Amino acid sequence: MTDTIDTATLIDWLHRFRDAVTEKKDWLTELDSAIGDADHGANMSRGMQAVAEKIDAAPPATVDELLKTAGMTLVGSVGGASGPLYGTFFLRMGMTSGAVAELDGTALGAALRAGLEGIVARGKAEPGDKTLYDAMSPATSAFDAAIAAGEDLGAATAAAAGAAAEGRDATLPLVARKGRASYLGERSAGHLDPGAASTTLLFETLAAAVAARG
Ligand code: ADP
Ligand code: MG
Repeated sequence: MTDTIDTATLIDWLHRFRDAVTEKKDWLTELDSAIGDADHGANMSRGMQAVAEKIDAAPPATVDELLKTAGMTLVGSVGGASGPLYGTFFLRMGMTSGAVAELDGTALGAALRAGLEGIVARGKAEPGDKTLYDAMSPATSAFDAAIAAGEDLGAATAAAAGAAAEGRDATLPLVARKGRASYLGERSAGHLDPGAASTTLLFETLAAAVAARG
C-alpha cells in the first residue's frame, strides 16, 4: 500500500488550519501585541477564511492548483508580512508538486522544503532571527528525517509538528532580527514569536489531517 496525501486531505488541512488560526486568533494577536502591531491573529484568520471560501466555491482537483490558489489568495488578502510569506510558502509548494492528485512522503517533503526556501528568498530569515522560519525549518527537517528513516506520513507529520512546537518555544529568549519585532531590539526577548506560533498550528493541523485520512 502506498502512503500518500491526496488533494482532499490537503483541502482538509487548509480548513483545519483556518479553524486553528481562528480559534487561536486572540492568542496570536496577544503575542503580536507584545512585539509587533497586534494584527497577526486577524491577518491569519482573515487570510485563511478567504482561502477556504475560494476553494469551497470551486474545489481544485490537483495538488498544484489547490496550493497555488491558496498562496495567491493569501498574498491578495493579507496586508501584513505574513500574507506574502505564507502565500509564497503555498505557491512554491504548489509549483514543486505539479499537476498530480496526491503526494507521497518524498514529494511532500520536497514541496515543504520548496515552500521554506520561498520564504527565505522573500524574507531573508536566518536561524535564530525569531521568525516563523525558526518553527518551519526544524519542522521540515524533522519531516525529511522521518521519511528517510522509513517512517510513514502519520509519524513524519507528527514529528514535524513536535519540532515546530520546540522551535516556537525556542523563540522565547531570542532578540528579533527580522520584521516588525526587530524594531524593539533587546525588548523583543522574553516573548514567543507570533509567526512561529501560527507555523506550529500549520504543522499540527497537517498532522491532524493526515491522521484523519479516510
Ligand atoms: P506584520 O509584521 O506585517 O504585522 P504579521 O503580524 O501578520 O505581519 O506577521 C508577523 C510575523 O511574520 C512575525 O512574527 C514573523 O514570524 C514573521 N516575519 C516577519 N518578517 C519575516 C521575515 N523577513 N522572514 C520570515 N518571517 C518573518
Ligand atoms: Mg503584526
